[in-house]
Amino acid sequence: MEVETITLTDGSGYAGAASRLLAPSTEAELASILAEASAALIPVTILGSRTGITGGSMPREGWAVSMEKFRRIDIGAGSAWCGAAVTLADLQAASAHTRQFYAPDPTEWTASVGGTINTNASGSRSFRYGSTRRHILALRVLMAGGSARTFRRGEAIDFPVPELPLPQTTKCTAGYPLKPGMDWIDLFCGSEGTLGVVVEAELKLLPKPESILAGVVFFPTLDHALDAVEAWRGVEGLRMIEFIDHNTLDLMRPKYPEIPAGALSGLMIESENPDEEAWVDRLERAGALIDASWFGETDRDRERFRVFRHAAPERVNETVISRGFLKLGSDFAVPIARSREMTRFYYDVLDRSWPGQYVVYGHIGDAHLHVNLMPAGPEENRLGYQIMEEFARHAVALGGTVSAEHGLGKRKSHFLSLQYTAREIEAMKDVKRRLDPHWLLGRGNLFPEPGH
Ligand SMILES: Cc1cc2nc3c(=O)[nH]c(=O)nc-3n(C[C@H](O)[C@H](O)[C@H](O)COP(=O)(O)OP(=O)(O)OC[C@H]3O[C@@H](n4cnc5c(N)ncnc54)[C@H](O)[C@@H]3O)c2cc1C
Repeated sequence: MEVETITLTDGSGYAGAASRLLAPSTEAELASILAEASAALIPVTILGSRTGITGGSMPREGWAVSMEKFRRIDIGAGSAWCGAAVTLADLQAASAHTRQFYAPDPTEWTASVGGTINTNASGSRSFRYGSTRRHILALRVLMAGGSARTFRRGEAIDFPVPELPLPQTTKCTAGYPLKPGMDWIDLFCGSEGTLGVVVEAELKLLPKPESILAGVVFFPTLDHALDAVEAWRGVEGLRMIEFIDHNTLDLMRPKYPEIPAGALSGLMIESENPDEEAWVDRLERAGALIDASWFGETDRDRERFRVFRHAAPERVNETVISRGFLKLGSDFAVPIARSREMTRFYYDVLDRSWPGQYVVYGHIGDAHLHVNLMPAGPEENRLGYQIMEEFARHAVALGGTVSAEHGLGKRKSHFLSLQYTAREIEAMKDVKRRLDPHWLLGRGNLFPEPGH
């Protein structure tokens, strides 16, 4: 069962180390590991696919437990039971055989079911379908100490919690979204491995739409794209609006020379109501570079565009890590009505104060852009962290969140206190103490210091 002691890294380049790396193959083995750790007061960090970018799966101490052997997939009509290690790619492939699909799409398809539940992952299709939370029907969880529970949607927690204020954003993954009478699934979803270990989950599957129009639409200016987002937000059947700015296009040009020379921004769209005439009209009115844009209606076309969109974070991560730094990217979302204001704020600050390379891309349909800084040296890197904090404060001031989809992990746990008061964070810690009295699970995630 034991593999070896190793140093690990996550998708952001952040490193962790564990005194043991364990990979149980059954629930009983996992339960006995948790019972042993609990008796000896050894912290346990759970590993999914380690594509997370906030250090959540990186242990600071104690044992690392990889869920890699929990790979059962059982597809039914309208739902699938999946082991924690099932990847989104495997789930989508298995669902496609039954003409169904799993709606959450964090573009990183090697991510695991357990990891995406624990970060409440979202992504491109969340514009229509919301984040992972909405798609969980049941969870099988091992609690700290090893006891097993199965929670079905709607089963309320059996202890009192206060109501914490939630931002007016379409998604949020910053801390526990406490509310009296909330159910266990909402508590575990997004809890970043701090409250229990997800062994299996029943996930909702949707019928695959008959036809989907997909496109990567290029525009001659930034404002053309921002105007199009506002004009198209209400379009029926639209399930994705992803933004790519001019710097991102430049970063991708070596790999994609077909990006048109005159393009200064792009929107990637998918519509389940592919009324072509209406789209031509919309594109013309938006001033898009129609002839230079890319469109398609097949699964293959959509996969090609997904890979193109995914190349942006991949290229950014590789560049930053190769320069010896950790990924330095934002995950803030604001209320839809403040989207343009926040976007302008990003560019004003970056153009005024940031000497290095930066890119902006992401889920503009949800007012949730990722700003990524690519520092050339230590001084720019230091300044980058200051700028990120300025962005975090501004997002909160506009009614937004410090984390829309990545979670806070260890790298961003200091942001929690920008969004919540000390009393509200204490209420979250009370829940943590109740379910994990020795503060062993996911130690360092969300709360920088153990609070037992
Ligand atoms: C190129 C790139 C693009 C990305 N794009 C997106 C995006 O668009 N949207 C998005 O939401 N994310 C995105 N991510 C981030 C990442 O893919 C997600 O956070 C994903 O949910 C992590 O899944 P994982 O299996 O890799 O989990 P890990 O990174 O292994 O773990 C994440 C957290 O979950 C906990 N955990 C994992 N499994 C379990 C379990 N079974 N039980 C309890 N706790 C568990 C870990 O302890 C950790 O705290 C991207 C990452 C990369 C590298």
